[in-house]
Amino acid sequence: MNDLKSLIRAIPDYPKPGIMFRDVTTLMGHPAGFKSAIDALAAPFMGKVDAVAGIEARGFVFGGAVAEKLGCGFIPVRKKGKLPWTTIGQQYTLEYGIDTIEIHLDAIQKGQRILIVDDLIATGGTAEAAVKLVSRVGGTVAGCAFVIDLPELGGVKLLASHGIASHTLVAFEGH
Ligand code: AMP
Repeated sequence: MNDLKSLIRAIPDYPKPGIMFRDVTTLMGHPAGFKSAIDALAAPFMGKVDAVAGIEARGFVFGGAVAEKLGCGFIPVRKKGKLPWTTIGQQYTLEYGIDTIEIHLDAIQKGQRILIVDDLIATGGTAEAAVKLVSRVGGTVAGCAFVIDLPELGGVKLLASHGIASHTLVAFEGH
């Protein structure tokens, strides 16, 4: 997995000073690296989930490919106002202010086992909101999978406090 790490570009002070942005477009653009990331994200969940929910927007790229690998469907979790049918929303806290993500009310059948996928977990606020959305529409969260963990920000621990296990491929120090 150290190879994967080298395929992720680090951009200092983006989108604002003090943030080290982990740019996965370089990984997505590398055929062997992208395939190995998708294989590794999917491996623990083979035969164990009914659908994958991906978080807009980079979670769509990884989540869609993981869903195909697992032989199941894909459910988009989107920013407020983007989904065309009836939705429910969940607010979450950002460093400054709040945001809302939404899911279609009928996206999940009761009791379906759902894997939540995003590119990166930092504080875990976004993933926690996705866990709540999936639960509120009747799904059972089977786990969460992320390419990147920023352990110092505590997101994996936050999800664990809700009884949700996280599968991550690489970790970086700092924010
Ligand atoms: P959080 O809700 O704090 O866990 O933040 C996770 C979301 O913000 C994910 O959708 C990431 O794509 C994005 N994100 C947070 N921090 C970074 C970072 N340092 N580099 C790239 N994306 C980030």
